[in-house]
Amino acid sequence: MEIISNKAWGMIVKTPLEPQKLSRVDAIAIHHMASPTANIKEVQSWHLNAGWRAFGYNYWVDFDGTVYEGRGYAYIGAGVEDQNDHIISIGFAGNYQSGLDGIALSPPMSDAQFNAGIDIIEWVRQRVPSITKVGGHKGFMATACPGDAFPLAEMISGKRRETLSVTDCTNELLWRGIITNQPLWNAAAAADQDIFWLLKKYYPYIIKNGGSVKNPLSVSESGQAVAILQKQGILSKPALWTEKALRDQNVRWLLIKMADYIN
Ligand SMILES: [Zn+2]
Repeated sequence: MEIISNKAWGMIVKTPLEPQKLSRVDAIAIHHMASPTANIKEVQSWHLNAGWRAFGYNYWVDFDGTVYEGRGYAYIGAGVEDQNDHIISIGFAGNYQSGLDGIALSPPMSDAQFNAGIDIIEWVRQRVPSITKVGGHKGFMATACPGDAFPLAEMISGKRRETLSVTDCTNELLWRGIITNQPLWNAAAAADQDIFWLLKKYYPYIIKNGGSVKNPLSVSESGQAVAILQKQGILSKPALWTEKALRDQNVRWLLIKMADYIN
């Protein structure tokens, strides 16, 4: 895991940070940003505008799994009111709380962001062995942070998610007869993140639920296929896939095959 130093990303320190007395640090608190778009610079400006001495979190994890050093573990952070002298705070990009007025919920946390979270927690624990508890912000005080859609228990378990390769996905799809031209789909998934994402979503679904082509070619329209895949929770952006199917006959064919298989 690479950590982008606070110098490298340009953290502004208005008032010198206070050194942390590491022997009294016993916990890590996990936070979300309650914003689906805010990047580290925007979060920094919130904190500076609030009159804080600097960006508040000790570390911060972006959607793509990039880990940033904020105040670091050697300085007191600003994440859990009145308890920062014994808690290290790690922030995560995204809004993982449903029902916030006018604020879109982020998509389910990406494997990259999740695994980076596991890695930075482990990294900090190795350096601060007095830590005995990892919890959500809400485990330390009354707050909704890091949100009801944050995979908190899974993250506290400390187990990384297995990340699938393109070939893992297409091997399975080939074996089940959903695709026939594996090189085509390996290349398509390598060139288009959306296609890789769809294969990765479909893969665990068929592993879990099995399925077979019960009514071969019962699905004839890509719109029908998109509706079936959406209903099964496999794809969440029907407009994106309808558009891709229109532009690319192979995508249209893949969607229909996938829907047929689970229909
Ligand atoms: Zn929080």
